[in-house]
Amino acid sequence: MAKQSHLHCSFCGRSRDEVKILIAGQEGHICENCVEHAQEIIAQELNLKQEATAVGGSSANFKLTVRRPAEIKKFLDEYVIGQDDAKKVLSVAVYNHFKRITQKQQQDDVEIEKSNIIMVGETGTGKTLLAKSIARLLNVPFAIVDATVFTEAGYVGEDVESMLTRLLQNCNYDVAAAERGIVYVDELDKIARKGDNPSITRDVSGEGVQQGLLKMLEGTEVLVPPQGGRKHPEQKMIKLDTKNILFICGGAFDGIDRVIARRINTNAIGFNVNKVEQEMQRKNLLQFINAQDLKGFGLIPELLGRLPVVTHLNPLDKETLRSILTEPKNSLIKQYTRLFELEGIALTIEDEVLDFMVTKALEYKLGARGLRSICESILTDAMFELPGAGETELTVTIDYAERMFGKSKLSVLKVA
Ligand code: ADP
Repeated sequence: MAKQSHLHCSFCGRSRDEVKILIAGQEGHICENCVEHAQEIIAQELNLKQEATAVGGSSANFKLTVRRPAEIKKFLDEYVIGQDDAKKVLSVAVYNHFKRITQKQQQDDVEIEKSNIIMVGETGTGKTLLAKSIARLLNVPFAIVDATVFTEAGYVGEDVESMLTRLLQNCNYDVAAAERGIVYVDELDKIARKGDNPSITRDVSGEGVQQGLLKMLEGTEVLVPPQGGRKHPEQKMIKLDTKNILFICGGAFDGIDRVIARRINTNAIGFNVNKVEQEMQRKNLLQFINAQDLKGFGLIPELLGRLPVVTHLNPLDKETLRSILTEPKNSLIKQYTRLFELEGIALTIEDEVLDFMVTKALEYKLGARGLRSICESILTDAMFELPGAGETELTVTIDYAERMFGKSKLSVLKVA
C-alpha cells in the first residue's frame, strides 16, 4: 500500500491518490484523465486527416465511385425487378448529384442544385431496396430513417437532426464521408399536413417536421448529436454540412390516386377513348404523379421545392413477384439454395411451388415482403430436420409445399 502512493501519472504528474485509475506501462503510468485527453487528440487528428482527404475527393473507406446513368440502371437491374421508370429517374438524379459535388469551381455562376428525390409507391414495391442498392453501388454511407419518429423541436420524439446521427454512426463517424452520404427517409406521407387549414391548429407530427426537414434538405450546417436523441444533453455535437447529402424520400401516399384523378380529370376522357386503355391508366394513376398532387396530399410547397425529382413505383403483379423470387442477384430462392448447400443438400423447388408462393402472397396481400414468410413457412421444417440427417437432396413438390403452408400460422391469417 505504502508503495502505491509513490506511483503517479507520467503524463500529468497526478499521484495515485488523486486519480481513479492508473494504468501501468513498461516505464511509466497513465491516469484515466490523460487517456481521455489522448483519445480526444487522436479523434481530432483523424478528423483533420479525413477532411484533408475529402478535399482530394474521398475519405479512406468511402472512395467515391461515380457511374454513368446507364451503368447505375444496369446495376439496379441486378437487384430490383421491374420499376424501370423509377430506376431511370433515380439513375439520372444520382448521376447529376455526383456530377454536382465533384465539379470544379467554375468561373460563371451556374450552380447545379441538389436533386433530392421522392419515390411514391405502395409499401413493399422496392423503394428502400432501390435506395439501398444505389448507396451500395456508389459506396457512400447510407441511412434509413422513418419520418414518423420525428417531431418538431420541443415535442416528445426525435429531432430531425438525429437522422444524421444514424448516417454518422453507419460510417463510424467519418464526417467527410457522411457529408456525401445518402439518407432514405421512409414514410414521408405520414408527415403530410392533415386537412386544409394550415397552422390554425398546430400540427405536431406533420407540418412542423416538414419545416424541420427544409433546411436540412437544401444544405446547411447542422449540429448533430453523436448519440442521437435528447437523452444525452451533455454530448458534444458534431458539425455536419448537408449540402452534398442526397435525400431520397419514399412513401405509399395512400389515396393519392384520387388526387391525381381529380387533377387529370379522368372522367373527361370521354366515350370514344379506348376503354381498355382507360381502365389500364385508371389502375395505375401513379405514373402521372407530380409535385402538385403531393401538395394536394399535404406536403408543403417549400418542401416539395427541395425535392425536385418525383418518381413512382408500380404495384407488383404476378409476373413481377415470380421474378423477384428467383431473378435478383440475392433472390430468396438463391438464398435458400445456398443455405441448404452449406448443409451439403441440393435444393430443388418445383415451378408449381413458385407459382403457389406468388399466389399466396397476392391472396394474403403480403406483397414482395410476404414472399419471405411464405418461403419460411414451407421450408422451416426441412431446415429444422435435415441438418445432420445425412440427406443430400431436397425436392419441394407442390404437395409438400401445400402441406407445410397449411400447417403454418400464416395460413390461418384471414384473407382480406
Ligand atoms: P418499400 O420500401 O417500397 O416498402 P422494400 O424495398 O423494403 O419496400 O421491399 C421489401 C422487400 O421486398 C425487399 O427487401 C425485397 O426483397 C422485396 N422487393 C420489393 N420490391 C422488389 C423489386 N421490385 N425487386 C426485387 N425485390 C423486391
